[in-house]
Amino acid sequence: MGPLQIKDILQTAPENQSVVVKGWVRTKRESKNAIFIALNDGSTIHNIQAVAEPGQFSAELLLTVTTGSCLKVTGQLIASQGSGQAVEVKITDLEVYGTADPEQYPLQPKRHSLEFLREIAHLRPRTNTFSAILRIRHALAFAVHQYFNEKGFFYLHTPVITASDAEGAGEMFRVTTLDLNNLPRTEEGAINFKEDFFGREANLTVSGQLEGELGAMALSKIYTFGPTFRAENSNTTRHLAEFWMIEPEMAFFELEDNMDLAEDFVKKVITYALVNCKDDLNFLQNRLTEEEKNKPQNERSLPLLEKLAFVVDNPFERLTYTEAIEILLKSKPQKEGKFQFPVTGWGIDLSSEHERYLVEKHFKKPVILTNYPREIKSFYMKLDEDGKTVRAMDVLFPGIGEIIGGSQREENYDKLLGRVHEVGIDPENVWWYLETRKFGTAPHSGFGLGFERLVQFVTGMGNIRDVIPFPRYPKSAEF
Ligand code: ATP
Ligand code: MN
Repeated sequence: MGPLQIKDILQTAPENQSVVVKGWVRTKRESKNAIFIALNDGSTIHNIQAVAEPGQFSAELLLTVTTGSCLKVTGQLIASQGSGQAVEVKITDLEVYGTADPEQYPLQPKRHSLEFLREIAHLRPRTNTFSAILRIRHALAFAVHQYFNEKGFFYLHTPVITASDAEGAGEMFRVTTLDLNNLPRTEEGAINFKEDFFGREANLTVSGQLEGELGAMALSKIYTFGPTFRAENSNTTRHLAEFWMIEPEMAFFELEDNMDLAEDFVKKVITYALVNCKDDLNFLQNRLTEEEKNKPQNERSLPLLEKLAFVVDNPFERLTYTEAIEILLKSKPQKEGKFQFPVTGWGIDLSSEHERYLVEKHFKKPVILTNYPREIKSFYMKLDEDGKTVRAMDVLFPGIGEIIGGSQREENYDKLLGRVHEVGIDPENVWWYLETRKFGTAPHSGFGLGFERLVQFVTGMGNIRDVIPFPRYPKSAEF
């Protein structure tokens, strides 16, 4: 089934056995006695070294072996003469599948800026940094499915196209087949969506939660893991217009259970990466350390692996929104006027600088904030007894801010309907959602984890655009 992967060949004992290696050239080096070609096929961060003798191949052929070209190398696996690798391939036959003209190929063996690499997203997976990120991303996705499968959750596929604008409030991408140059009109002159594909307005989903709840009301424990779309025009390092969200939803879970699950879940998937992505994490850690070399000692962040181990090994701090506001009001940046948005008092929506202060300066560990004011949270969250706060929980991470948002859901039909009216949603649009509270309602909870924010945390990357193969953000949808 295809050639051996370089990852496996590098682990094989060298016995002069014949091997075939296929991959892309990272570097070629010629000395008096030998020609060294470093090949990589993306299966590992490590290259395999292939060695030829001078004169073994024509100068013409060797000229086409350049960084980025693709080769099939046949040879013997031998113990490496040089240091840096255990085995190498003594080339007997060399075939160039595809050349990469050095005058044109943009990825030369030197450090490229992340901004530049974003402009060549079709080629950046061939760099060490991005191949490492993509392998870690894969490992985390696998760990997510494994975790939920082992815990008795069912993977529910919620729709990508939705007609309910329950959460979006203007942040949705419209889906339509109407001719924009010739829109059908009603008698009153409004756009006649009855003529549209679905006979009504439709959008790309901003969350699978509402449908996820329907699943939980039958299967007890479900999760979704799919693409999510938000047309928020926020050019931040933590927002994408298209991102992947993981949303578990559990019948018979209260807020405490929800917090316990969220904490255990992120710790387990990060542990999976620590165990299974050692080489890639080490590579990224060295890269980050290199980047921070010029910073004064006290401004450098923890080495990546220490930061991850720290999150895995320590309990998250849990406190209420109200307690957090008290801490923020008394904080140094608040008193010295250092917050861009000063904390004016109970009821404000926390901004990322506030969240990061709590996590990075005050508690120095991940924080779970609970019981937010109802006014700043979604309609479906369960009201607390005092009627002022809701059973919400946000998990806040160092460097990231909010990584998870969740809640216990309002299971009382009348209270939920009241909230639907309050926030101005037409109950007709969510009649099916409301019916779960009419027929066999139950306490239930769930949360949403932005997958890219998790990948960002684990890889230590500063910009979310660099942890998804082809990022979508305002004015950018190439590739
Ligand atoms: P934020 O306040 O950071 O914009 P949010 O409160 O709008 O996030 P939720 O609606 O609670 O986000 O979504 C659940 C999770 O999805 C968030 O905790 C976050 O991890 C992730 N998320 C939300 N918006 C984005 C986005 N635009 N790009 C990437 N991830 C996102
Ligand atoms: Mn949120």
